[in-house]
Amino acid sequence: MSELLDVLIIGGGPAGLTAAVYARRAGLSVVLLEKEPVPGGQMALTPEIENVPGILSIDGFTLSEQMAEQAKRLGAEIVKTFVTAMRLNPGALRVEAGLSAYTPKALILAMGARRRRLEIPGEERLAGKGVSWCAVCDGHFFKGKQVAVIGGGNTALEDALHLASLDCDVTLVHRRAEFRASPVLSERVRKQPKIKLMTPYIPVSIEGEQRVTGLRVRSAETESALTLEVSAVFECVGTLANTELLKGLLPLDAEGRVEAGEDTETGIPGVYAIGDLRRKVLYQIVTAAADGAVAASRASAFVGRAALGTK
Ligand code: NAP
Repeated sequence: MSELLDVLIIGGGPAGLTAAVYARRAGLSVVLLEKEPVPGGQMALTPEIENVPGILSIDGFTLSEQMAEQAKRLGAEIVKTFVTAMRLNPGALRVEAGLSAYTPKALILAMGARRRRLEIPGEERLAGKGVSWCAVCDGHFFKGKQVAVIGGGNTALEDALHLASLDCDVTLVHRRAEFRASPVLSERVRKQPKIKLMTPYIPVSIEGEQRVTGLRVRSAETESALTLEVSAVFECVGTLANTELLKGLLPLDAEGRVEAGEDTETGIPGVYAIGDLRRKVLYQIVTAAADGAVAASRASAFVGRAALGTK
């Protein structure tokens, strides 16, 4: 099957969904491909969002549903499917997903990023048995239990606060004394009596036979090691861009991110990279959304020029 359309968007996080909204408002036909049953990407897994202008507080799942609904109401088609191959030849773009092959005039890459793994002993064997990368998805299994969260970024601190709200006794393990998370979150964590800070400590291994029973950590100062008795370990140690399919097609930096500028142009006519996929200075819902708006506007101009034969 082959479908010709104005804009194909791959990825339904805040970047891709915003691009869909702007592209539809520019009068373009839009298909958005999303591999998960629920759009939103990492945003959908965020317990509480307080930094989107005009919204005092909202959970990520609800905000994701609302963004997807907005794109659909404007006429964007959202297809749940998995992209398996891409060809980025100028003037002959092609994306294969499931049984479909799309040959859009413009392509917006918005595949986002996923949680990085620590790759310490015990992690792989106990994944899904207490080792988790999603406190929103798995936290309720550990209500009232002792859990560990690893990391010192916004995700780690948000997840620690979420788990504390589920009555968990949380130990937040971070390899440095300072958090890179925003001061407002750091302050909130320090004031939360259900969260114990363990810094500077380095995670060594995750222990347990059938299920997680402990996290082995080592002091970064004294080298002494100890085991925390916990039922779950939530790893929040950064993200990796979902750019495997782009290797060899576009220049990627050391973290696998696409080197596109603020105009989201990739160097291939009609192909744009947005959101966490693109190397930039600030990874936020609002900056992802801004990328989506810019890319849709560039795509609109490109499709218009193509129609006039003046690419
Ligand atoms: P991040 O900001 O990259 O933080 C990762 C944390 O993991 C850092 O504290 C890092 O320690 C630690 N870490 C990395 N490798 C480690 C290792 N091998 N062993 C132990 N610790 C390790 O990642 P993130 O928190 O997932 O956030 C990703 C991006 O999304 C960031 O730009 C973040 O600001 C953004 N975000 C924003 C919000 C919000 O605005 N509310 C919410 C979530 C995410 P070091 O600090 O020592 O490097």
